[in-house]
Amino acid sequence: MSERITYFVDVILPLSIPNTYTYRVPFELNEEIDIGKRVIVPFGRAKYYTAIVKDVHEEVPKNYTVKYVEAILDDYPIVTDKQFQLWDWIAEYYLADLGDVMNAALPSNFKLASETKLSLHPEFDRAEGGLSDKEFLILEALQVQDELTLKEVAEIVQIKTIQPLIKSLIDKKCAIVSEELNAKYAPKYSTFVEIDERIQSSEELSIVLNELEQSSRNEKQVAALLKLVELSRWQKSDQRAVLRRELVKEGISESSLNSLAKKEIVDIYAAEVSRLEAHDQDIQEQKAFSDAQQIAYEEINASFTEKDVVLLHGVTSSGKTEIYVQKIQEAIDKGQQVLFLLPEIALTTQLINRLRKYFGDLVGVYHSKFNQNERIEIWNKVLQNDPNQFRIILGARSSVFLPFRDLGLIIVDEEHENSFKQYDPSPRYNARDIAIILGRLHRSKVLLGSATPSIESYFNAKENRYGLVTLTERFGGVKMPEIQCADLEKETKQKTMKSHFSSFLLENMETALEAKEQIILFQNRRGYTPLWTCEMCGWTPHCKNCDVSLTYHKSTSVLKCHYCGYYISPPSSCGACGSRKLKMIGFGTEKIEDELAIYFPEAKLQRMDLDTTRAKHAYSQIISDFENKEVDILIGTQMVTKGLDFDNVGLVGILSADQLLNFPDFRAFERAYHLMSQVAGRAGRKQKRGKVVVQTYEPNHWIIQKVMQHDYEGFYTQEILERRNFHYPPFFRIVVLKLRHKKIETLEVGAASLAKSLQAVFKDRVLGPEVPLVSRVRNYYLKNITLKFERDASAKKVKDIVKEKIDLFLADHDYRSIRIDIDVDPQ
Ligand code: ADP
Ligand code: ZN
Ligand code: ZN
Repeated sequence: MSERITYFVDVILPLSIPNTYTYRVPFELNEEIDIGKRVIVPFGRAKYYTAIVKDVHEEVPKNYTVKYVEAILDDYPIVTDKQFQLWDWIAEYYLADLGDVMNAALPSNFKLASETKLSLHPEFDRAEGGLSDKEFLILEALQVQDELTLKEVAEIVQIKTIQPLIKSLIDKKCAIVSEELNAKYAPKYSTFVEIDERIQSSEELSIVLNELEQSSRNEKQVAALLKLVELSRWQKSDQRAVLRRELVKEGISESSLNSLAKKEIVDIYAAEVSRLEAHDQDIQEQKAFSDAQQIAYEEINASFTEKDVVLLHGVTSSGKTEIYVQKIQEAIDKGQQVLFLLPEIALTTQLINRLRKYFGDLVGVYHSKFNQNERIEIWNKVLQNDPNQFRIILGARSSVFLPFRDLGLIIVDEEHENSFKQYDPSPRYNARDIAIILGRLHRSKVLLGSATPSIESYFNAKENRYGLVTLTERFGGVKMPEIQCADLEKETKQKTMKSHFSSFLLENMETALEAKEQIILFQNRRGYTPLWTCEMCGWTPHCKNCDVSLTYHKSTSVLKCHYCGYYISPPSSCGACGSRKLKMIGFGTEKIEDELAIYFPEAKLQRMDLDTTRAKHAYSQIISDFENKEVDILIGTQMVTKGLDFDNVGLVGILSADQLLNFPDFRAFERAYHLMSQVAGRAGRKQKRGKVVVQTYEPNHWIIQKVMQHDYEGFYTQEILERRNFHYPPFFRIVVLKLRHKKIETLEVGAASLAKSLQAVFKDRVLGPEVPLVSRVRNYYLKNITLKFERDASAKKVKDIVKEKIDLFLADHDYRSIRIDIDVDPQ
């Protein structure tokens, strides 16, 4: 007999606590315990949690008496080493708790955090192989009471370590750890019907049919059998089984099928099916590259010999996706996995169809609108590194957390999109940036793509950290759309505005509709924010210290800078033209839809925004309606600006460019440039040059001019100067500490004290505390402290100090109840 070793495990609990926790492993579990498996552990008062084993060792913890691991939930590790490394990186970089990182990473069915419950196995009727007395006691209790907590189980059998008992009950198929907590993935079963094996030839089938037809009572069974032959394409294909519900849908009754089964003519059985839809499509050949694509493709390859990250800057519709397809093919030919990141699920609908044409079922989609079991199924397939399925994962930001084994390529399409950033809850990560770290861990190449790259990525490319490849022409020589401004100031003076619509836009809409072309109208959803603006010239007051416009705060009736806290009372006249006509502006998509119905009563309208796309298939429905020309005018928020590829859009209207430009944020110009260029890119595409109308009070604004000229380089050159001058990214890194408390007095005193202690170290790199735009949320008063650090400062050192200061602050009795959210690299 080998010596009994006492093992301990460090586990990550699904809680916002900074460290791992140590538990003792009962001897019975020594063989089974492993890094990456889930375990059930007690924590706090009589609470059980599902935790992940991060380390197994023999070191006895010094400071506290350890409790025992109660149960192991997995037969094999569900989290890989590389994932742990990634989680550690994220926790450190984003100043997040490891438990929060785990919560973001795991599908929630993996990590339930209430009390574990035991219940009877749904198919339990009697135990095979006998039961011990204790097992018998538990089963008896379960028959009276549906569920037992582990604590109750322990009380019934009067022993402490109940794990072996529970495991044995599970193995004997008497009990399960109940659905909500059980963490075990429940496979999905369906009932199939197929013609019995003894019937092999057409002759044998006709004999059977003849026999049945002897009696008129068997009429329905004959019909059922014939339907089965038809649907199973019996003898015409290898597939024999048909879903019972398909037959029922065709009017066949279950009782006729059962009668056939009794006569052993058909077989009825349950089998596991995938929750994920299967797609049998004919695989298409890849398209031959144009010359421009070929050159870009070769440049990418050349770049990848030196660099791990390449930025592909290709104008809208230049054929970037076709290049991705080629790179994906190469990675899967090498037996590697591919991750294709998209900023929003809205985009996956179109792209998934395109990729499936080339790769069939090798493509899997992963996003938050999937139900938990679907997500777990994908998780497991990726983990198993199945060579025939899900080699390519198309997903939104959370797919960076999948348990990849061997990533060969990561594509981040529309890399400039700010929706790669998670706002809430912690960790507030940017999936594009994590993709680069993930690439490093897997030694995988990363291809960033955009028609309008982010300032950060373009800067990195210019600094030679990334490779840079450009595609300047649209595929097939289609011209970039013609962009014109509707001058709102002029139209207001001439009284030609109809509510929010300029006559110029309305005329163009009419022309497009007459030509049977479709229209996309874009209105930014952030446009509800009230801005103080001049009705005559469109002027908005700007901050003295920062290059951002001031926002009107209703509660305090001041115009305020979001970044430095500078504020003024609302001016009584315009700072530019002197007019006294100042007003607040803001209007949304819904209002536009209402009004359009008046001007174009014939047109079919569809709105695409957060409200209309909540349901699982809503996006794809709207998109396919638009593709099928069942919609004439699509009105939307940012959702319509992105990568969608329609072939009949004659006109794009941007309803309020000024709202984009005047957003109080250092990224406002960048975001405005992205949004306008992207939405403009939806116009025209296939055959004809498209048209874009931009409604603005400031047609000469430099951003609008750059958009009209399709001049990204010019935009970048000017914007990067502003960033340098005003100490913003990529030259400086920003960390925002968001403090909140129910009592404003506590918050004010606390925030000032924390700011002061940070200032002692970081001097004028600390801004604030300032009251944020929204000053109170869910009864909490809010205050922000913003930290700006030089790019070359040691991020680790800075963050260690910040963390230390925060810990010290929260240790203070007076401030303990203040909550602090940390946002690193806010978008
Ligand atoms: P991007 O991703 O840069 O916006 P796409 O890859 O969507 O551009 O290409 C724009 C259009 O041109 C698409 O409809 C696509 O099918 C078509 N296209 C691109 N490359 C080719 C090619 N080599 N052969 C035929 N059609 C192509
Ligand atoms: Zn004015
Ligand atoms: Zn300011």
